[in-house]
Amino acid sequence: MPAFVPSNLIFPVMNRNTKNPDSSIKYVKTIGEKRAQALSSAGVNSVGDLLRYYPRRYLDRTTVTPICKLRIGEDATVIGRVENMGIVKSRKNWNSRFRLILADETGALSCVWFKGVRFLEKAFKVGETLAVFGKVTFFEGFQITHPEIDRLSDEEDGNFVHTGRIIPLYPSSQTLREFHFDSRGFRRLMKPVLDEFLGSMDETLPPYVLRERGLIPLQEALRQIHFPDDEKRLAAAQRRLKFEELFYLQLMLAYRKMTFGIEKHGVVFEKVGPLTSALIESLPFELTDAQKKVIREIRKDMKSGRPMNRLVQGDVGSGKTVVALICMMIALDNGYQATIMAPTEILAEQHYLTISEYLFGQNVKVGLITGSQTKKDRDRILESIRSCETDLVVGTHAVFQKMVEFGKLGFVVIDEQHRFGVLQRAELIKKGRSRDLQPDVLVMTATPIPRTLALTVYGDLDVSVIDRLPSGRKKIVTRSASEKAIGGVYDFVRGEIAKGRQIYIVYPLIDETEKSDLKAAIVGFEKLSKKVFSDLAVGLLHGKMKSDEKEQAIRSFKKGELDILVSTTVVEVGVDVPNATVMVIEHAERFGLTQLHQLRGRVGRGAEQAFCILVKGKKLTDEAVERIRVMEATTDGFKIAEEDLRIRGPGDFFGTRQSGLPDLKIANILFDYEILREARRAAFNLVRLDPQLRAPENKAVRKNFIDKYKNRFSLVNIG
Ligand code: ADP
Ligand code: MG
Repeated sequence: MPAFVPSNLIFPVMNRNTKNPDSSIKYVKTIGEKRAQALSSAGVNSVGDLLRYYPRRYLDRTTVTPICKLRIGEDATVIGRVENMGIVKSRKNWNSRFRLILADETGALSCVWFKGVRFLEKAFKVGETLAVFGKVTFFEGFQITHPEIDRLSDEEDGNFVHTGRIIPLYPSSQTLREFHFDSRGFRRLMKPVLDEFLGSMDETLPPYVLRERGLIPLQEALRQIHFPDDEKRLAAAQRRLKFEELFYLQLMLAYRKMTFGIEKHGVVFEKVGPLTSALIESLPFELTDAQKKVIREIRKDMKSGRPMNRLVQGDVGSGKTVVALICMMIALDNGYQATIMAPTEILAEQHYLTISEYLFGQNVKVGLITGSQTKKDRDRILESIRSCETDLVVGTHAVFQKMVEFGKLGFVVIDEQHRFGVLQRAELIKKGRSRDLQPDVLVMTATPIPRTLALTVYGDLDVSVIDRLPSGRKKIVTRSASEKAIGGVYDFVRGEIAKGRQIYIVYPLIDETEKSDLKAAIVGFEKLSKKVFSDLAVGLLHGKMKSDEKEQAIRSFKKGELDILVSTTVVEVGVDVPNATVMVIEHAERFGLTQLHQLRGRVGRGAEQAFCILVKGKKLTDEAVERIRVMEATTDGFKIAEEDLRIRGPGDFFGTRQSGLPDLKIANILFDYEILREARRAAFNLVRLDPQLRAPENKAVRKNFIDKYKNRFSLVNIG
C-alpha cells in the first residue's frame, strides 16, 4: 500500500442491495455481453461508470444557429432534416465524396466528406434529424466539411429550439457507434438506468462541504447533467461535479504534501554562518527585494525540522541561481553537503563555472560530475563526495539517478529549466535521500507555470516566486523577419558587433538525434564563418560536441574572444553572457513558445539594449504565426506561458506522458480555476483537521478516496 494512505483506511465494502451502482453494466436490460464490451472500451464497466459518463456538450437555443444566420469561417451547430444525400464523383480525379443536404426552416446546408464514403452512405436516412457541428465554408452554398454529427430522435427534432429543451451530446467512438452508442443511443440508455439506479448512488462529499460551498447533492447533479431542466440547473450540476473531481485530486496532493518525508527527519539548519555572509558580501550587486523575500521564505523552512519541498519560480534572468547558491551556503555553514542537479550537461557545466566564480577564494570544495567524464575522474569525485571532502556537488539529473552517494547531504537543488512532471521530480527527490535523513529540496523552474496549472502540477509543493527582474534591465526588443530579409539582419548584427557586443545565432535542433537538423546548424556555421562573417570570430556549439569542446566554446564566448556563437538549442538554458545583446533565431517557426522565450532570455542580461530577431521560414502554420506574434507582443514569461497553454492545451504543454497531469472527466484545469481553488481549500482543510478521515461526516470521503480515486491519479502513488 502506498505510504500516503493512513493505514486504517481500508475496510470492506458490502453490497447492500441488488441496485448496486457497482454492478456490471452487462446486466442492464438491452445491453448484454457484446455491447458491454464496447462500453468497456470507453471505460464504462459498471452502472455507476455509465451515470458518470458525462455529455461532452449540449444543444440548446443559444448554441444552435438557423442556417440563414450562418457566417462563413465560424464554427456553428445546425439542426436540420436530411433532404437528400449521395456519393458525388469528382470530374477531375478518381476521388469521390459523400454529400448530404441538411435543411431547416430557414435554408439548406451541404455537409461533405472525403473519407469513409461507403460507410457514410449507409449511415444516414433521408428524413432523419441531425445536429451537425463544424466550420462553415462556402462552396456552391454553405458547406461544412467533415462535420461532427449527432442523430436526434423524432421527439427531439428541430422543434426543440422553440421548446427550449437542452439536449446532451455524448462522446463516442467508432467502436461505440457500431453498437449504436452514438449520442442518441446514450440518451436512450441513460433514461431507464438513471431511473433505476440514481437512488442508490451515494453522496461523495461531506454534508458540511456541500453546505459551505453551496453545492447540490450528487443525485440531483447526475440527473441534471444528463437531462438538464434548464441552463441554471445544468450549471449547478456542472459546478458540483467539477468540484468533486478537483476535490479528490487536491486531496491526493494534500496527502502527498503532508506525508512528504514523514518517515524521515528534516535537518534543522540553525545558523547563517561565515560562508553565507562572505558570499553575500562578495556579490557585485545588491539582491533584489524579490530575491530577498524568497530567501527569507526558504530560510524559514530550513530552520524548521520539517523537510522542505519548495518550488522557486522566476522568469529567465530573475536571478534564481544566486538565490539557490546562498541557500546552499547556509547548508554548508551548518556542516552539510549541498547539491544542484541540472537537466543537461551543458547546464551542469555552466552552473559549475558560475558557482566556482561566485565562490572564488572561499574555502568551499565544488565538484562536478557528468556522464562524459572518464571513469577514473568520476570515481575519484564520487569517493570525495562519499567522504564529505567535496562540499558542493554539481551534476546532471541522469548521473544522480545512477550513482552518487553522499556523506552528509542536507540540501538538494533541482534545476528543472524545462517542465518536468511530478513523477520525474519524485524520482530525483528519492535519490537525494540518505538513510535517516530527508534533505531539504528546492526545485527551480525557469518556466513560469500558469497559476491554474501550478496548483495541480506543483500542488504538493510550497511555492515562492521571484516576481521582479533586477532593476536597470531594458526590455528586449523583439522583431520577426522573413528569410528574404536576412541580409538586413546580418547588417544589423554587424553594427552591434562594431559597438562591441556579441551575438547568438541559433538553429533549430529540437531533437538532438535528428541528423538533418544538426547538419543545418553545421552548414549554417560554415556559411556564416567562411562567407558572411569571415572577418569576425565565429564559434560553434552543439550537443554532439565533446564536453571539453563545448566548455571551450562557451568559455571563449564568455571571455569575448568570439563575436558570434552559432548554436543549437543547447544554448537555451543557463548560458550567461551579459555582453551578448542580439539573439537571432533561424526558423523561429519551428520552436515552441517556451523555447523561444528561453532562448530570448540569453540576451538582455546586461545594461545594454538587447534584441531578439525571429527569422521566419517559408512554411508557416497558423500556430507558428500566432507564437511569433506573442513573442513580439510581450516579454513576460507568465503571459507567454498562458498563451502557450492556450495554443497547445494542457496535455501538450507538459508533454502528456511525463506530466503526471490527471485525466479529468469534467473539470478543466485551465478554465475552472475558481472551482479548483475552492476545492483545494476544502481538501487541504479536511486533511489538516481530520487526517485519518475518522469523523463520521467524512466517511463518504474515506470510502471514495480508497475505492475510486486512489489509482486514478497516479501522480500520488509515489513518494
Ligand atoms: P535565472 O537563472 O533566473 O535565469 P540567473 O541566476 O542566471 O537568472 O541571473 C541572471 C543574471 O543576473 C546573472 O548574470 C546574475 O549574475 C545577474 N543577477 C542576479 N541577481 C542580480 C541582482 N540582484 N542584481 C543584478 N544582477 C543580478
Ligand atoms: Mg539560471
